[in-house]
Amino acid sequence: MTAQPILPFLPFALPEIGDDEIAEVVDTLKSGWVTTGPKAKRFEQAFAEFLGQKAEDSQLECIAVNSATAGLHLALEAIGIGPGDEVITTTHTFTATAEVVRYLGADVKLVDIDPATLNIDIAAIEAAITPRTKAIMPVHYAGLAVDMLAVLDIARRHGLRVVEDAAHALPTTIEQELIGTLGSDATVFSFYANKTMTTGEGGMLVTRNAELAKRARIMRLHGMSRDAFDRFTAKVPSWYYEIVAPGFKYNLTDIAAALGLHQLKRLPAFQQRREQIATRYHEAFSDLPVILPPDAPEGDVHSWHLYVLRLADDAGISRDEFIEGMFAAGIGCSVHYVPLHHHPYWRDRYGLTPEQFPHSQKAYERMVSLPLYTAMSDADVERVIAAVRSLLA
Ligand SMILES: *Cc1c(COP(=O)(O)O)cnc(C)c1O
Repeated sequence: MTAQPILPFLPFALPEIGDDEIAEVVDTLKSGWVTTGPKAKRFEQAFAEFLGQKAEDSQLECIAVNSATAGLHLALEAIGIGPGDEVITTTHTFTATAEVVRYLGADVKLVDIDPATLNIDIAAIEAAITPRTKAIMPVHYAGLAVDMLAVLDIARRHGLRVVEDAAHALPTTIEQELIGTLGSDATVFSFYANKTMTTGEGGMLVTRNAELAKRARIMRLHGMSRDAFDRFTAKVPSWYYEIVAPGFKYNLTDIAAALGLHQLKRLPAFQQRREQIATRYHEAFSDLPVILPPDAPEGDVHSWHLYVLRLADDAGISRDEFIEGMFAAGIGCSVHYVPLHHHPYWRDRYGLTPEQFPHSQKAYERMVSLPLYTAMSDADVERVIAAVRSLLA
């Protein structure tokens, strides 16, 4: 018998950083301006253009921040969320979605998911509304759009604000419109290392609400009435600024923006590659005892941030055994997410039980996220497929 070659471990996720990104970062480092400055501004403009904003139309504002968490916090702060208010979101998300509500002293109302899409259950949103409800935070899970027309309709009928957690949803569309361009109050994207594009750490707050944008820009940098770039380039006294609120330190550096400028250019190609891998997984797993992740509706784009398989009840293997088996084959997997109702903080604060979230709970117990990223080779993809099939076929 010939010895099997020992393959290196295939991580669950890896960023794809190219020579253009590296050269741009080096240029920034040599420029003498490493914090928020001209490249952060260019990145905001490029992002607005990506979303389809024409340069002469100033309606859509893009505000670069140092994380999506920061962007979500700024958006909720700007719409006036505070103590006594309730914000509705899904239990099936990362804690960042909900924690920002608590930063502001408001309360989170977690609701279950639709098992078909793994997105927030629209009917459950409406059922969770109380006189204290101020906002809805939909999360476009895995990169599949939430039915935003339904969410915006509920918001309009009940006088609620909408802040989209679009950490997974670049470039996702619904009814051929990019997430970020719909009629919500704000949409926040993440450029964390494992997202569909990265700046290391970073995020973008997008809004058409000029007042919200103005407040977020001020609160992004200590509550200063002008940002550092303007402060050092404007003709009027460069040393003068005014503090109008106790703001935060949420600005994106030019080093990070340098990465973002080039990652954004590559985003369409990144999306195509992710789609290609998802399609290959779909066909390779179609005969297995699994629930495949849902596709975007015909004509729409799924960003494929995550590829989440759910093991069927008769798969003959537990989720934990499956992940151990993949690990033994040298392949990293993950689970998105341990639902919020499961975590001690959220569970205890709101007295949550799994019975209140049957669909999220069931999905959690049977779900596994497979590696899906642009730096994977075709051989990597086939290796994942072979390992999955050896555990389930
Ligand atoms: C990654 C993520 C965030 C947080 O993004 P950061 O840029 O790391 O702050 C928020 N919500 C969801 C659903 C995420 O996946």
